[in-house]
Amino acid sequence: MPPSGDTALAQDVLAGRRAAISRAITLVESSRRDHRSDARELLEVLTPKAGGAVRVGISGVPGVGKSTFIEALGSWLVSEGHKVGVLAVDPSSIRTGGSVLGDKTRMATLSTNPDAYIRPSPTAGTLGGVARATMQSMTVLEAGGYDVVLVETVGVGQSEITVAGMVDTFLFLTLSRTGDQLQGIKKGILEIADVIAVNKADGDREEEAKASAKDLAGALRLVYAGTNEWVPPVLTCSALEARGIDTVWGRVIRHREFMGQNGLKEKRAQQQLDFTWALVRDELDQRLRTDDAVAAVRADVRSAVLDGSMSAVVAADRILEAYDNE
Ligand code: GDP
Repeated sequence: MPPSGDTALAQDVLAGRRAAISRAITLVESSRRDHRSDARELLEVLTPKAGGAVRVGISGVPGVGKSTFIEALGSWLVSEGHKVGVLAVDPSSIRTGGSVLGDKTRMATLSTNPDAYIRPSPTAGTLGGVARATMQSMTVLEAGGYDVVLVETVGVGQSEITVAGMVDTFLFLTLSRTGDQLQGIKKGILEIADVIAVNKADGDREEEAKASAKDLAGALRLVYAGTNEWVPPVLTCSALEARGIDTVWGRVIRHREFMGQNGLKEKRAQQQLDFTWALVRDELDQRLRTDDAVAAVRADVRSAVLDGSMSAVVAADRILEAYDNE
């Protein structure tokens, strides 16, 4: 019997065929019900072959140099014999449907490299939807033989936490200007950053960048004093001049070694569990939004709460009752 369409697709992905990888990612990004079940079947074949990549999240404020950095890092990794996949989680694509990160002119050199695959952020309706698509795209890339997957995101709160939940190592890019540093290195970021690099350490700004990196490294050593946890190293680099990129990568690898094989396995297992519940919450949220019975009471509840005749607690009960009774 000839293989069914999806089996053929899975085989083509496993053979590393680019067109098949694109098709498979389009399939896992789709929210159509029939696509979802096709995607599940595909992933069942691909998942046992996935998991082999070094998964790295890369974040920082707009303009810090993320795409320039990924271009430099990706090109270097490819020259070292790696196959590099680049995915993106773009929060602006969630709200507006337009994409800031996914602009086509970005990473012009890397995008034409046969050993690199760059995919712009999916435009699913919610962050959970984007995360779901990205996680599955990572499986497709890994099954297709990509041994490094970089997931880019912009420095806005929740999307960073989401990306940190799907990668092994989280790399945070920052700039030397003090204002930026104070704003950029918020407490939340410190909790998820495994490696920090002060970018644009070139020209007039090289010394300033080195000084900032030293200050920040000192501050971090204090934060971690007395623990045996990994202390995020702070390096400098110039993405534009492709300097310091290999050193940053060296620290990414050292972070993996610090975790060890078991540590990494545990981290990924815990991520899967957390992700499971995040997906459930996202799905429930979607159902609540599209539920007819909820829609039927929504307007009444809204005006009653707004004019003060109904408390939030009663209103919430009313909505949940409508949802449960359907
Ligand atoms: P992103 O928004 O974080 O992706 O930032 P981009 O990679 O688009 O870079 C924003 C601007 O900073 C561009 O004009 C880059 O050429 C510039 N840039 C990026 N990296 C460096 C660097 O290492 N040194 C200098 N001097 N400029 C850089």
